This record gives sequence, C-alpha cells and structure tokens, in this order.
Amino acid sequence: MNAQDAVEKGAKVLPRHEVTSVRGENGVWVIETRDRDSKKHRFQARVLVNAAGPWVSNLTDSVIDGAVSRSMRLIRGSHIVVPRLYAHDRCYLLQNSDDRIVFVIPYEENFSLIGTTDREHQESLNQVTISNDEAQYLCASVNDYFNSSISLEDIVWSYSAVRPLFDDGNADAKSITRDYRITSETDGTGAPLISVLGGKITTYRKLAEDVLSEVNQALGVTSEGWTGSSPLPGGSFDFLRFDNEVEQLKQDYPFLSNSHAHRLMRLYGSLSREILGDAMTYGELGRFFGGNLYENEVRYLMEREWAMSVEDILWRRTKEGLNLSDSEVRTLSNFLKEIINEPDSSSNDGGALAGSSTVQSAT
Ligand SMILES: Cc1cc2nc3c(=O)[nH]c(=O)nc-3n(C[C@H](O)[C@H](O)[C@H](O)COP(=O)(O)OP(=O)(O)OC[C@H]3O[C@@H](n4cnc5c(N)ncnc54)[C@H](O)[C@@H]3O)c2cc1C
Repeated sequence: MNAQDAVEKGAKVLPRHEVTSVRGENGVWVIETRDRDSKKHRFQARVLVNAAGPWVSNLTDSVIDGAVSRSMRLIRGSHIVVPRLYAHDRCYLLQNSDDRIVFVIPYEENFSLIGTTDREHQESLNQVTISNDEAQYLCASVNDYFNSSISLEDIVWSYSAVRPLFDDGNADAKSITRDYRITSETDGTGAPLISVLGGKITTYRKLAEDVLSEVNQALGVTSEGWTGSSPLPGGSFDFLRFDNEVEQLKQDYPFLSNSHAHRLMRLYGSLSREILGDAMTYGELGRFFGGNLYENEVRYLMEREWAMSVEDILWRRTKEGLNLSDSEVRTLSNFLKEIINEPDSSSNDGGALAGSSTVQSAT
C-alpha cells in the first residue's frame, strides 16, 4: 500500500533509477535503468506497469518501444504557505467567482496552507514552480473572505506539481475529469503493458487493485483485493484515538514536547518508537538540526524511507524545512555527506544507503 509496506511483502524498491529503455523480447520486457551514479542496470519482467504520473506519455512515446501513445493534459496546481491565519484546527473551503474552490488548512502547527490552482502546464516537467499570477490568485481568494489580508510578502514557502489528467476533450482545465483510466496492451512480441492515466491519492488503493487485476489477467492468475481496510505501516490504531496515541507516546518518552510527539505520531504512527528507541532524554536522540529534527529521525528516513538528500528530509518526508535556518540546513547537508560515507552504510539493505545489483528479474 506504500513503498515500506511493499518491501515488507518482498518488493524491491530502487529509488533514483531512471527507466531509459524498454523493449519486448519473446513476450518478456527488457528494461534498462540508469542510477544516480549513471550506472546502467538491466531487468526482465513478464508484465510492465507504466505508473509514471505526469511522465506517463514520455514513457509511451519515447522510452517503451512500440507502446501506444497516450494523450494527457498536464495541469499545474500550486500551493502557498503563510504564517498561521487563525488559531482553531478547522479548514475553510472558499467558493471563488470563477467557480473554483480554494482551501485554507492549518499546516505544520504554525502555518496555513492555501491551494490550489489549475493552470495548463506547458513548461518542462523538471521546472514546476508557482507563477506570480497563481500566487496573487491564492492571496486574493483569502482576502475576499478573511478579515486579515495577506500579500506575496507573507508567503514563506510554496510548492507546485502537475496533474496528469486523462484528456477527455474538455477545453476548461478545471472541468477535465479527475478520474483515472487504466489501459492494457501487448507489444509486437506479446509482452503485456499496463498504463495508469490520472488518479487521486484518495482512490489509490482502488486504482492499485484495478491495476493488479489487469496484471493477474496477463499472468493468468487470480487473487482477491485485500487493501480496503488494511492499515499503513505504523497506522494500526483507531484514528479516532489519535490524541490518546500521542499521549501514550509522551508517557513512554516523557522528555518529548507536545508538538514533537504530535509530529512524530502524525508522520510515523507507532513506528515513532523505532525512531526514539531507548532514548530517555533529548541528548540521546543524537545531533540536533533545528526545529525538532534529531539525528535518529534523519537516520531512520535514510535507512527506512529512502531519503538521500536534504530536500528529501526537509521537504518530501517531513516539512521541517519550514523550521530550519540556512545555517542549520548547511549543518544537515554536511551531516548527510558524513553518514553516506560511513564504512558500514552499504549493509542497510532496502534504504537509501543500500547498494544494488545490476541484472535482476521481476514480474
Ligand atoms: C497540485 C495537485 C493537487 C492534488 N490534490 C490532490 C488531492 O487533494 N487529493 C487527492 O487525492 N489527490 C490529489 N492530487 C493527485 C495525487 O497527488 C496523485 O494522484 C498522486 O500523487 C499520483 O501518484 P503516482 O504515484 O501515480 O504518480 P507520481 O507521484 O507523479 O509518481 C510518478 C513517478 O514516476 C517517476 N518516473 C517518471 N518517469 C520515470 C522514468 N523514466 N523512470 C523511472 N521513474 C520515472 C517519477 O519520478 C515519479 O516518482 C493532486 C495532484 C496535484 C499535482
């Protein structure tokens, strides 16, 4: 259900491997990848699933030999983060005059998250950033409804991404379907290719089960869906008892501040205990990097969640980037360089510190 869970069930995850060429040979896919050290790897697979999100058409058009071209609409959505606009913990949905809604959500304790936009993305997929116009639009939405007003100077961070929407012929970006499509085909040699077009996080389990039923069909096997009520790693507790779980964590680790315990439980659930281990004091969590980020968590992210860079740790896995100063970020960056060079780092199989072999088979 997520990459960690997949590894527990026997999957191999290879981060930072770009699929550079795919061709069918006698009904089997031969896949070449390039890792971040530019080393080439070769794999074989009986079935291939193209789940490359906004890059799905790059794969069908330029990488997978003989694949049917898939037309997608690339629609950028941007968010801004500002100092917290109100004290309570509810969200607002603001109805705009352009028939769109904009949300305002309490974010990372001291901030408010405001989003999103719908803009046709014509630039490169490697350059996805908020435009001045989008930032103005989001500020204006808030200013139409809130007593206090915000401007571009209040934005402490922004992030943008591109939605790969199935091209249903709708001219208006906000009206294109957000539903997903799954396509299935075989190449000239009989190798099966399944492509995922569009999708939402809210429906990803359903989508994944639909993909698996296509995979099963291609392999001639059957299996029942099982993810409907399965918890994610660390999430094996009643969500309505979340506050009790935070309290329990604080009882087990009395030195933790409220906000730290809350953040750990929200990100890692019961796996927080793997990060905290036997620590009885803050000093036993290792080096301190700012915010409430300590060495134990950084190592956990590298070993268990494939984090490889400052960006991974501060913005992708956590949002502690909001709380660290420039000099604290530099200290973290130097620390990452140090531990990547630690002598036994390559034995941490499955994590960012893991090594990888060059020829493997997969289904
Ligand atoms: C602005 C915005 C707002 C959204 N809001 C919501 C929301 O409110 N609710 C909701 O449910 N969903 C929302 N979504 C949708 C949700 O984010 C996506 O459905 C989800 O992230 C898709 O995940 P994915 O794994 O399919 O694709 P992605 O997360 O895009 O992953 C695709 C992966 O393929 C990799 N890749 C590409 N090319 C190659 C290659 N050649 N070799 C190897 N790897 C490659 C990429 O590096 C990437 O990691 C939103 C999306 C956007 C952009």
